[in-house]
Amino acid sequence: MIARARRSHPELPHRWIICDACRGEGRRDHPAFSNGITSSEWEEWDQDDRENYMRGAYDVGCNDCGGSGKIAVPDIGRCTFAQKRELVLERRALEREAREDSAGERYLRMMENGGYCS
Ligand SMILES: [Zn+2]
Repeated sequence: MIARARRSHPELPHRWIICDACRGEGRRDHPAFSNGITSSEWEEWDQDDRENYMRGAYDVGCNDCGGSGKIAVPDIGRCTFAQKRELVLERRALEREAREDSAGERYLRMMENGGYCS
């Protein structure tokens, strides 16, 4: 799990960018299909499932942009000192989460290797 350092900040002075997670669509394939579906899976589906899929019935709203397709990135030059400080704190929290995630993964890998650090 990679923590995204980007969060929408419409409450700050900002400019809008197109959400790169959904490319501005506001919707993405259901996470279960994020790698696409294999042709054998496709064969197993009945006609209704295929039609639902093609209609996008299994799509989910994009988490990153909340379905709007765009993200408000803070315009640092127009932020107040307090707003910049908030952003720095948030960035640090995200980085800490990312570090903890990777520490957890290292631990799991170590256990898979019989307890030895590789
Ligand atoms: Zn999005």
